[in-house]
Amino acid sequence: MIEVVSSDRCVQCGLCVKVCPTNVFETREDGVPVIARQEDCQTCFICEAYCPVDALYVSPYAEQAVACDEEALAAAGALGSWRATIGWGRGRTTLAAIDTTPFIDRVLPPRPAVPERKSS
Ligand code: SF4
Ligand code: SF4
Repeated sequence: MIEVVSSDRCVQCGLCVKVCPTNVFETREDGVPVIARQEDCQTCFICEAYCPVDALYVSPYAEQAVACDEEALAAAGALGSWRATIGWGRGRTTLAAIDTTPFIDRVLPPRPAVPERKSS
């Protein structure tokens, strides 16, 4: 669940507000988003992945809000850590580049064997 928006780090780009699928954020007058509907958060991590300055922290606890200390999270490198994990950001290697499993084979049921063509 989304827990932290760091107003110190935020550069008011508005990306998190745009990409959130459940409209969790509202934008303050100064352009910094606030968590307005935390209970609607789906813990999808999309906002954290998109934030270009690692100003967000989504906790892995999807069902409950947890007390988070921004300073401690920042010191531990947890702000924006999902973005780092998936390799988004300049100079990083994306998970997609490392993963050699064809994605289609993971999401579709096994394909039927293709019958051999008879030679004429
Ligand atoms: S984790 Fe997903 S649902 Fe939750 S605030 Fe971020 S983008 Fe919205
Ligand atoms: S994506 Fe990050 S920098 Fe952009 S508005 Fe949201 S918190 Fe601020």
